[in-house]
Amino acid sequence: MSPEQIWPEGIRCAAVFTFDNDDEFGMIDAFGSERMFYVSQGYYDTNEGTARVLRILKRHQVRATFCMVGRTAEKRQDIVKMIREDGHEVAAHSWDHRPYYKMEYEEEREDIQKTLDIVERMVGTRPVGHRSPDWNPSKSTVKILHELGGFIWRGDSLDGDLPYIHKFEDGRNIVELPSSIGLDDFGVYGDRGYSPQEAFELWKDEFDILYEEGKFFCLTAHPLVSGRPAPSTALEKIVAYVKSHDGVWISTAQEIAKYWLSKSQAALIV
Ligand SMILES: [Zn+2]
Repeated sequence: MSPEQIWPEGIRCAAVFTFDNDDEFGMIDAFGSERMFYVSQGYYDTNEGTARVLRILKRHQVRATFCMVGRTAEKRQDIVKMIREDGHEVAAHSWDHRPYYKMEYEEEREDIQKTLDIVERMVGTRPVGHRSPDWNPSKSTVKILHELGGFIWRGDSLDGDLPYIHKFEDGRNIVELPSSIGLDDFGVYGDRGYSPQEAFELWKDEFDILYEEGKFFCLTAHPLVSGRPAPSTALEKIVAYVKSHDGVWISTAQEIAKYWLSKSQAALIV
């Protein structure tokens, strides 16, 4: 299928910039609450990082998706407000970043429900998207999202270059928006030890191929990483680079998922 048949008229490639607001909770899950070297790096998210990311997005007039840990939303309503005032989507990213693959079904269900409730209270609207903590859903996660209702997308998989559909018998389907470990800032800076220049070059190469093939580009960044001064230059460069191309649809995950659902209902894509 040619790109022209996949995306709306005039579009050859779609792009989403996503940011996970883990704050200290991802660090606590990984390193424990006693190791302040790590925990304080987490605080950078809501102290500085998110505000810098928002300034970059505003400069380039790009709307993005922020995946919010429930406890981050609970403690920093001012940050949630800033994100919403700039027109970005806020999605759910677990209550306190403990991974779902280690939880029993009921515990995971309650965790997602609790996250939904706090984000809805802070944002004013119910999230329609979900990313699992640690990017590690359980085998039940998508079923729970369907049971709880209202979700139209999740971003938990690394298995393709285009969105695809989790089908349910009642027709309330959920779109998977896959990303890539090469498009994750933790993976690039932490695991690979790349410089911001190298990160930008990698992201540029990823985008060039996806653009050429008419696919889907999904950056998965963290304000506590890409919101730091030097990494923020790589973020700004990739936002500007993607935006400089003709026929790129840069939007929120929610908008891309809505489009994908409507196309799948018309049976043009699966
Ligand atoms: Zn996270």
